Amino acid sequence: MKNVKVKCLLLIKNGTLVDAFGTIRADILIENGHIIDVKKGISEKADEGIDASGKIIVPGFVNMHNHLPMSLLRNNAEGKTLGKWLNEDIFPAERRMDEEDMYLGSYIGMAESLSAGITTTNSVYLEKSHLGGKAADELNARAFLSCDEPKEDGEEELKSALKFNERIRGYRMARPVMASHSVYSCKKENLILKKEYAKQNSLRYHIHMSETRKEIFHSIRNFRMRPVEYAESIGLLDKNTILAHAGWVTKREIGIIAKKKSVVVNNPVSNLKLATGGIMPLEQYREAGARITLGTDGPASNNSINMLETMKFSSLMQKHRYWNASLGNPKEILGYATYEGAKALGLKAGKLEKGYLADLAIIDPKINMVPLGDIYTSLVFSCNNSNIDTVIVDGKISFENGKVRNFDGKKARMFLERADALISGSS
Ligand SMILES: [Zn+2]
Repeated sequence: MKNVKVKCLLLIKNGTLVDAFGTIRADILIENGHIIDVKKGISEKADEGIDASGKIIVPGFVNMHNHLPMSLLRNNAEGKTLGKWLNEDIFPAERRMDEEDMYLGSYIGMAESLSAGITTTNSVYLEKSHLGGKAADELNARAFLSCDEPKEDGEEELKSALKFNERIRGYRMARPVMASHSVYSCKKENLILKKEYAKQNSLRYHIHMSETRKEIFHSIRNFRMRPVEYAESIGLLDKNTILAHAGWVTKREIGIIAKKKSVVVNNPVSNLKLATGGIMPLEQYREAGARITLGTDGPASNNSINMLETMKFSSLMQKHRYWNASLGNPKEILGYATYEGAKALGLKAGKLEKGYLADLAIIDPKINMVPLGDIYTSLVFSCNNSNIDTVIVDGKISFENGKVRNFDGKKARMFLERADALISGSS
């Protein structure tokens, strides 16, 4: 007898499809996690259907820099710069966190991400945060997870990261990434060991880079060169390296990053919040042909996980910085938030085309986005999270009718209890 494969089709009708490559009115047919057809008037009988008349469909957002468990620590320690914020509040609270806390923080962070149209998150945190993979499976969200916990001994640090990655491999929706915290906080041998491992095993490598001016002074004092030059000199930069921030850079450093094809992540809201000063020279990166993506950074230094806001700030800050209203082109900004992020992580996503992953968000323009005018302008400057109508990840609905489909309210209550205890220092 012939084995008949059961088809599970999802059909989205009559939407306006918008990605960084253009816009069309069409239907989208999805099967087994992929877009299998995009055209007008698809008549195939589907198991599940969505009427997207009057709505806009975009590729799901890819948040390229986050620390998901930090949702536990948000809305506290307001008004501090990065060093004070880390040493006085964040590090002591993190020392009190256990695996269950980090799981709850990841769970809530990922649920919030879905409600914001984010289908993929690149998140780095401590070794005990490996249950983020479980949260990704439960909520049906894509997660690239890594452990950057620094240790004195390089072998020990690598071992801890490998143990973390081994656990991550056990989850359907999670993928392991290698990470170091930064060049100012990690020993040279440790940085090299992890990057070499990543190279040999084709893993992405995630690291904070040149976030503050203080790091530049530290680098010149200790290495006699600037952070990006130092990173290049010890072999950290290549096409699989993801540099979070990279805002305090010279033209020469931008040239190095572009030449090495490393990926930069602009986190404008976190930078403003922690008063890092200056503005990421996104425009110069663009001119140099560098690979640009966007991120929110952790929810404790933002204080939300919101890529629509991130897109808007990314564009506005370039206009402001260069006194030029034509910069921060919204179509390009949408590309950074979707296609470029997906490509940086090795995902065939971020484009609404046959053969791509079915990771997308349906947006209801309501009253705040109309008249739509230039649809990219409307998406980047007028759209907010209340417009997110439905979110599909891997071909399955993860968010609809204002709710995360698989959300467990009990976990939200536990999260609040634990957040209280961690901040007050009672545990
Ligand atoms: Zn960060």
